[in-house]
Amino acid sequence: MSGRRVGILGGTFDPIHCGHLDVADAAASTLALTSVFMIPSNIPPHRPQPFASAYHRFAMVALAVAERPAWRAVDLELRSTTPSYTSSTLGHLRNRAYAPNELFFIIGADAFGEIATWHDYPAILDAAHFVVVSRPGSPVGRLAQRLPHLAPRMVTATNAIAPANPSIILIDAPTADVSSTAIRQTLGEGTAIDGMVPAGVRQHIEQHGLYIPGTPGRRASDGLYPIAAGRLHGED
Ligand code: ATP
Ligand code: MG
Repeated sequence: MSGRRVGILGGTFDPIHCGHLDVADAAASTLALTSVFMIPSNIPPHRPQPFASAYHRFAMVALAVAERPAWRAVDLELRSTTPSYTSSTLGHLRNRAYAPNELFFIIGADAFGEIATWHDYPAILDAAHFVVVSRPGSPVGRLAQRLPHLAPRMVTATNAIAPANPSIILIDAPTADVSSTAIRQTLGEGTAIDGMVPAGVRQHIEQHGLYIPGTPGRRASDGLYPIAAGRLHGED
């Protein structure tokens, strides 16, 4: 075995925030991960689009991992023209010679509660370890009851030894009580978001006017990307 232990955190990251870093940090320290891949998702055209463009979402993820040299902002899903399915992403990594036992797919307990609705479920659970981290309001302790058929695969992470087969590893850890939705709302109300996102991400959001009504970085309500409004050229 190579000793690689790669965490993967997918999300819309609209924007990435301290809660995302907390879940990944909790997984990385509990399971001695050698790297974490942060993978912003690409949203199919018929679904509601994120407020910030894929370019800005990727830029913010790159800024957020800047102080963690072993972590990566990965553009795998953004470069694809097909919908972002975790099963395809894990398949892609497998093609790049990562074994399921080397991959640790990190997910909040709120999102894991919906796992049975995911593409390729239940086969997807064999493609990587699933590392489920508590989120304020969503403790991991409730999952066995909510998903009784998965309870036999659930293990509690008490040390850095990974189970022999892909498992569902539960981690109870404090994570920031913050969401991207709350951050967008806070900015929309003109309130500061200090402490909710890393400093570099806050600077990027402010510099580009993301999530502030009427600025170029914000998606127009009719779905057109705001550059169409011409404001980048100083027309108003
Ligand atoms: P939104 O409000 O737009 O849904 P979000 O804050 O929930 O955004 P996502 O991009 O939806 O962020 O989440 C990506 C992943 O990170 C999911 O697995 C989610 O459960 C997890 N996550 C996000 N915030 C936290 C948090 N504060 N604590 C634990 N897990 C979190
Ligand atoms: Mg969410």
